[in-house]
Amino acid sequence: MDQKKIGSFIAARRKENGLTQNQLAEKLGITDKAISKWETGKSMPDLSLFHSLCELLHITLNELLLGEFIPDENLKEKSNQALFEVMASWLGKEQWERKTDARAPAVLTLKNVRKIYETERTSTVAVKNVSFEIAKGSFVGIMGASGSGKTTLLNLIATIDKATSGQIEIDGQSIFELSEKDLAAFRREHLGFVFQEYNLLDTLTVYENIALALTIKQTPKESVKQIVLDWAQKLEISEILNKFPYEISGGQRQRCACVRAIVTNPSLILADEPTGALDSRSAKQLLATFAMLSQNYNATVLMVTHDVLSASYCDKILFMQDGEFKAVMERGQEDKQEFFGRILDTMAKMTGGVPYVS
Ligand code: ADP
Ligand code: MG
Repeated sequence: MDQKKIGSFIAARRKENGLTQNQLAEKLGITDKAISKWETGKSMPDLSLFHSLCELLHITLNELLLGEFIPDENLKEKSNQALFEVMASWLGKEQWERKTDARAPAVLTLKNVRKIYETERTSTVAVKNVSFEIAKGSFVGIMGASGSGKTTLLNLIATIDKATSGQIEIDGQSIFELSEKDLAAFRREHLGFVFQEYNLLDTLTVYENIALALTIKQTPKESVKQIVLDWAQKLEISEILNKFPYEISGGQRQRCACVRAIVTNPSLILADEPTGALDSRSAKQLLATFAMLSQNYNATVLMVTHDVLSASYCDKILFMQDGEFKAVMERGQEDKQEFFGRILDTMAKMTGGVPYVS
């Protein structure tokens, strides 16, 4: 992280937004001296100010951290790059150490999982040799550059695609031993999906979309309504239950998809870039929802994401590169703010740091 570059970027953005140092300081409730220190690269804004600062300067968090604008087409790559540097400098070249929570049973176990895509002329090893466990009640993020194999891995776990070799167990059941027919039932019983491409059905209301998930799972008719209403209240969508998906916002749709994923009480909720299409407020709400589900309801969530902020909501982050896990980061007892702070501290230490060699 280049403090000087960030400082000049803040100064430039402040001027472009027609603000003096004084005015910006006032809006943030701090002294103008502090602003001057940031702008000359002597210090960094306090974590608690990041959000307001980004809003006032009309930039994203990733842009602030990089000290430059990120064109839309480079968004993912750039944020991946920043993240990768954080991970690399934090963990150095140490091998990934497997840590599991001894208190909680594993909901998901992967052993030496490989996936090779064969086409006529090429074969791509999308997932190389992945082994890990996810304990019940945890909220785990998978991060990595585009093409690193995240979606492939998630699809293998989701039983949508089949691994070339290795083992995947969900709730102690090896999924490769199941027939196609049993797989469909297994998916219904054990998994919940919040995938962009599995969005709500447009011809059904939100209520009907959620109720359908329960009906498919053969939940007794008389309890369906109460279950839907209870969860709708917890996730704050009670007011929109009778609307159709096209009548509500993207953020609301994703929260409805969450309710649909959780009502059947699945062992594992899988989410692929769930915040990808959301504005920052809706994204935060959705992430807070996942964190709340895992903390209060012992739900287990596995989420693929590419931004640092989303990651700060997880208990644990697995970093993927070229089809393998290269690093792991755990939150332990820290709260979100501290976890995020640890990421930033590491970024600060990186100024002039050594490039990562894998
Ligand atoms: P990510 O989700 O991290 O962006 P993917 O899992 O989509 O990565 O892709 C991992 C690698 O596997 C990429 O090199 C991609 O081109 C390749 N790949 C993904 N799906 C297929 C497919 N159906 N056939 C062939 N290659 C694929
Ligand atoms: Mg993907």
